[in-house]
Amino acid sequence: LRGFPGMAYLKIAEGCSNRCSFCAIPLIRGGISSRDPTDVAAEFEALVRSGVYELCIIGQDLGSYGLDRAGTSLLPELLSKISSISGEFRARMLYIHPDRFPREILDACAKDPRILPYFDLPFQHASPAVLKAMNRQGDAKAYLGLLADIRSRLPDAVIRSTFLVGFPGESDEDFALLRSFQDEARLDWLGAFAYSREEDTPAYAMKGRVPKKTALARKAAIEEAQRPITEAALSRWVGRTLRVLVEERIEGEDLAIARGPMNAPEVDGAIVVVGGNLRAGQLADVTVSAVRGVDLEAVPRGA
Ligand code: SF4
Repeated sequence: LRGFPGMAYLKIAEGCSNRCSFCAIPLIRGGISSRDPTDVAAEFEALVRSGVYELCIIGQDLGSYGLDRAGTSLLPELLSKISSISGEFRARMLYIHPDRFPREILDACAKDPRILPYFDLPFQHASPAVLKAMNRQGDAKAYLGLLADIRSRLPDAVIRSTFLVGFPGESDEDFALLRSFQDEARLDWLGAFAYSREEDTPAYAMKGRVPKKTALARKAAIEEAQRPITEAALSRWVGRTLRVLVEERIEGEDLAIARGPMNAPEVDGAIVVVGGNLRAGQLADVTVSAVRGVDLEAVPRGA
């Protein structure tokens, strides 16, 4: 599946075996069915040879990739196959269930800078009671430990997450736990969602439904608290030179919207490059000059 010029998505598994109580995907698509790592690596290489620079490796939970084939995560093996491919590219992993994170992938990122240290870890919550009701095993301590491991091994790691608020039974105390987790986690990017009932899921009939107004107020509180956290996280890039992939040129102006290692397509902010006469699909080395809300501003290196 092609995205903008120079970027493509590569799906490595269908379905999901995790059974989070709010989610209809396992009911609709069934348990995880993983592709053969050799086939995936061959497709990856063919895409690189065809001129694709950024490959987003996608699946409902990449940490579970291969469990159905080998009884263990095959994500580390896949990354090592990808690392042996020559050429200029970057691989971005999208979505790893935080309870399923294979720590070995940190080695793969440390060894090969083309495997981006970008992790989308949908924590959903931090209160043990809510996580249990969601049929997830972790808690705030385990998740903060995971973040600390990632950051100590990979100082340039970028972490994105999603929080689900207003889940049945979520009390003010549970929400307060989530808010303090948010402050401690200092995630680069965060999307907040208000729970909505999905038919046939275990959560559909759960007691303790949270009024929509409360759920929306909690979502807004998470979003407001995240703004300065994201801005502070972005400020660490100011003054640094990065390779970016141009997504779009703004016609009539010498401006381009580009994506750096910290910008997953569609969901994260972008890098606005001023000058350089850049075109979509082009690679450029740019120096970041400022943070502008959720975006970075940059100029071509040496400009
Ligand atoms: S890991 Fe994701 S896709 Fe799988 S059940 Fe949980 S929410 Fe759904």
